[in-house]
Amino acid sequence: MYFDETHEAFRASLRKFVDNEINPYIDEWEETTAPLHMLFKKMGDLGFLGIRYDPAYGGQGLDYWFETVLLEEIGRIKGLGVATAIAVQTNMATPAIAEFGSTQADFLTLLARTSDEPGYHSFGLFVVPTKLPGFNVSKKLSKLGLHSSDTAELFFDDMKIPAENLIGEEREGFIYQMKQFQHERFAVLPGIHVCVREMVDATADYLRQRVVFGKPLITKQVLRHRLAGWLMRNEALKQLTYHIVRLKTAGLDVTREVSMAKVLAGQLVAEVASGCMQMYGGIGFMNETLISRYYRDSRIMSIGAGADEVMYEVVARLEGF
Ligand SMILES: Cc1cc2nc3c(=O)[nH]c(=O)nc-3n(C[C@H](O)[C@H](O)[C@H](O)COP(=O)(O)OP(=O)(O)OC[C@H]3O[C@@H](n4cnc5c(N)ncnc54)[C@H](O)[C@@H]3O)c2cc1C
Repeated sequence: MYFDETHEAFRASLRKFVDNEINPYIDEWEETTAPLHMLFKKMGDLGFLGIRYDPAYGGQGLDYWFETVLLEEIGRIKGLGVATAIAVQTNMATPAIAEFGSTQADFLTLLARTSDEPGYHSFGLFVVPTKLPGFNVSKKLSKLGLHSSDTAELFFDDMKIPAENLIGEEREGFIYQMKQFQHERFAVLPGIHVCVREMVDATADYLRQRVVFGKPLITKQVLRHRLAGWLMRNEALKQLTYHIVRLKTAGLDVTREVSMAKVLAGQLVAEVASGCMQMYGGIGFMNETLISRYYRDSRIMSIGAGADEVMYEVVARLEGF
């Protein structure tokens, strides 16, 4: 009811891409880090990036439902590392450039203080080419999860950024970033409701074939009810996600709904990953079992892009508490 045949055709080509170009290699990339330059080039060539952006700048000029399809399908990637890297590209690094700036390759999007004055109007948002002198990247940081995408600290040592690399107005960077956060936080929602579904389905399959004292574990009511309960909350998350897409399509502010949904999604995916691992028993604790990767990867969702406590605060303020 939300997606027409053009969305479904787009979904089919994305699914094929994930099945053929990502999932077969994901175990290897967990060890070595995914070749993201190559992957993004392939995705760009196939029209999977810049979905909402103006075709005049190389985008596809498509609607939020197409973007939702992309974010749902990357939720089928086995683990959250590469999916997060793609969402960083599509919904974190580029929305402010599309909305307020012009474009450029091999860049990062940087929010920097441009004046010592207190308040929100003392930051600039910049497109920073990574080839400029003074730019350095630390060694890859060792982290709990998301092993297939690398994370590093960035250093800016007396770096001079050309004035034309400023996005929009000089003092409005913080305001632009606050708007961009809504795209960034939304980006986790479609992938998470798909990922939760995948974890529950895979766990149910395991419980069907795991026989303990003569009976498959799936016959244990306590386990079946727990799976069903997660799907109930996941359905609510999915419908809230689609509600947000409708609000975005109508041009309405979604800060309240996105903040609420981000908390629900982050908590649900971590709870389901942990709970499913419990149902796998000892084998679930082994790295060879996919659920252990989801257990590690899911924990970031309540921290990154605004910790849960910050999201609660946003909602409390908007509610006038
Ligand atoms: C793998 C990874 C990738 C990342 N990638 C990026 C990236 O690409 N770009 C980028 O800019 N950042 C990135 N980050 C940073 C990330 O956005 C921050 O870690 C996150 O927003 C939390 O901020 P912080 O670490 O400074 O925690 P802090 O602000 O120090 O907060 C620590 C904890 O205190 C609590 N807390 C914070 N504020 C409040 C409050 N107001 N009320 C109550 N409790 C509060 C929360 O529990 C919070 O988790 C990344 C982080 C990780 C781990």
